[in-house]
Amino acid sequence: MKILVINCGSSSLKYQLIDMTNENVLAKGLAERIGIEGSRIKHKPTGKEEVVIEKPMDNHKVVLEIVLNALVDSNYGIIKSMDEIGAVGHRVVHGGEKFSESVIIDDNVMQAIKDCIDLAPLHNPPNIVGIEACKELMPNTPMVAVFDTAFHQTMEADNYIYPIPYEFYEKYKIRRYGFHGTSHKYVSLRAAEILGKDIKDLNIVTCHLGNGSSVCAVQGGKSMDTSMGFTPLEGLAMGTRSGDIDPAIIPFIMDKEGMTFDEVNDMLNKKSGVLGISGISSDFRDLEIAMEEGNERAKLALDVFVNRVKKYVGAYVATMCRIDALVFTAGIGENSSYIREKVCEGLECLGIKIEPELNNIRGKEAFLNKDLTAVNILVIPTNEELMIARDTKALI
Ligand code: ADP
Repeated sequence: MKILVINCGSSSLKYQLIDMTNENVLAKGLAERIGIEGSRIKHKPTGKEEVVIEKPMDNHKVVLEIVLNALVDSNYGIIKSMDEIGAVGHRVVHGGEKFSESVIIDDNVMQAIKDCIDLAPLHNPPNIVGIEACKELMPNTPMVAVFDTAFHQTMEADNYIYPIPYEFYEKYKIRRYGFHGTSHKYVSLRAAEILGKDIKDLNIVTCHLGNGSSVCAVQGGKSMDTSMGFTPLEGLAMGTRSGDIDPAIIPFIMDKEGMTFDEVNDMLNKKSGVLGISGISSDFRDLEIAMEEGNERAKLALDVFVNRVKKYVGAYVATMCRIDALVFTAGIGENSSYIREKVCEGLECLGIKIEPELNNIRGKEAFLNKDLTAVNILVIPTNEELMIARDTKALI
């Protein structure tokens, strides 16, 4: 069976067509800068040349249409007809408390995903667009939703309950959910494989650093605590999201600027993080270049980002007493030597020591430590798509 995996991010869409008889990837691709000038799709059919499709792409639906056409294209396609696709697995960011596992998508599930839009305003809408576009184009193909929140359902109440009146948890289920669960699960399992150990015996801190970023304490293969919370707004400073701030800042700004709550919410989700601090870009490539050119605010944005990651790593090492591995993944974690070096700088007291010459790698699995008695520092490219395809196959 061939499974198409769709992962709609805020500004990106990743896809893979996977042959589940051997888990081989038949084609994969990445649409970048959706809704921004310079949008393009890099489509790579296995065994054929990569094709770059450059045209304006205003939204995820337009992208998906181009992707489906690319898969059946007579030159760079990989299948003859869309009928060969046995199922589609969709990454869905927020499943609330309703979904602790992946599910086959029906009308009720669609409604439940829509009900969660408030909780993930940047993410559930593109996820829904992706599902609806696929349903229109492939009405008879079963679809599965795999939730980012599911892996974190193992958290204990002392980590997921907020210190606000308990009735808000009872009434509205306001609690920490955590996100990027599929990624944290994949890289922690893969770390155990690479280390040749049973994941049940390992304490791992996983750092998913991308447009959205989160850190997770994985103890014995289970999510014990994670930096994102009720929504993906909590935790680290991100591309455009503030992460942790004093909640009192919100009414203060509303009062001083005459802003509505919706405007402040939009500001915290879309105009904050490293974009907000630097005033330049949410993209770490742009910020690293600007910093090298002497831009002080770009440097400050990167410093704030790094400090937050370090604080969470430190907190999770303390929570688990010791860690066996620190894992970097996602766009920044896999590619930015600078951010990895800065995050590890000064953490030698915790047994975390990065080796500069090993750190000069991008986008592939690697050890970054020499001292084998210390914490293993690993770069592991995430593979949410494979995890999603496995769940999809299991369900249908
Ligand atoms: P998403 O959350 O949209 O899935 P990704 O995990 O793809 O995000 O990460 C995208 C981010 O990765 C980009 O915004 C960029 O900041 C960062 N990134 C990608 N390549 C590099 C690089 N070579 N150096 C620094 N940062 C990079």
